[in-house]
Amino acid sequence: MKTVLILSGGMDSATLLYDLLAHGDSVEAIGVNYKQRHGKELACAAELCHGLGVPFDVLDLSSLSAFLTGSSQSDPNVAVPFGKYDEPSMKLTVVPNRNMFMLAAAGAVAIARKADRLAYGAHAGDHTIYPDCRPEFVKAMTEAFGLCDWHTLGLHAPYLDMTKGDICKRGVTLGVPYEKTWTCYVGGEHPCGKCGSCTERAEAFEFAGIPDPLLAAA
Ligand SMILES: [Zn+2]
Repeated sequence: MKTVLILSGGMDSATLLYDLLAHGDSVEAIGVNYKQRHGKELACAAELCHGLGVPFDVLDLSSLSAFLTGSSQSDPNVAVPFGKYDEPSMKLTVVPNRNMFMLAAAGAVAIARKADRLAYGAHAGDHTIYPDCRPEFVKAMTEAFGLCDWHTLGLHAPYLDMTKGDICKRGVTLGVPYEKTWTCYVGGEHPCGKCGSCTERAEAFEFAGIPDPLLAAA
């Protein structure tokens, strides 16, 4: 099966990359540059793919960034909030319509390449804060992909009901090199340890019962 994967360079999509390869899929990965504050994740995605011999292309949507105001991840005037993801302040990290524009752009590539499906790593922990990670959104996008072109593209979001901890556990069995993934939303040289993403990542590794190799490497 030919699968185009949206690879952010974070833990979830990196695990999905290894999962798809273990499943025997022919995988081509796509990163999306929307001038995200944590742009370092794309370098991680490139390195992961290079090591696996998986093709990796970056779609440059950086001109969109100037219009994505109000989100800490795309607007330099909004600071990244610290704390846990269930706090109202975390809504500042929501990038306007992010998953729809990423799925639409990567979906166009997938259709052009006659892929069977487009995969992305939305998971259960995202539901409370990110509306475009909800099962209802995935269902609607699946229907849209069935209507948007003569080539029918499937949408594959297998982690929708899994927590980040579940994904981490799975990734450990798959041998995902998590030291090569990037999660922190602040986007400095080292993980900040205080943003929602860092907090959630730490909880995932605690759940999996292993230390985060990225922190050990820092
Ligand atoms: Zn952080």
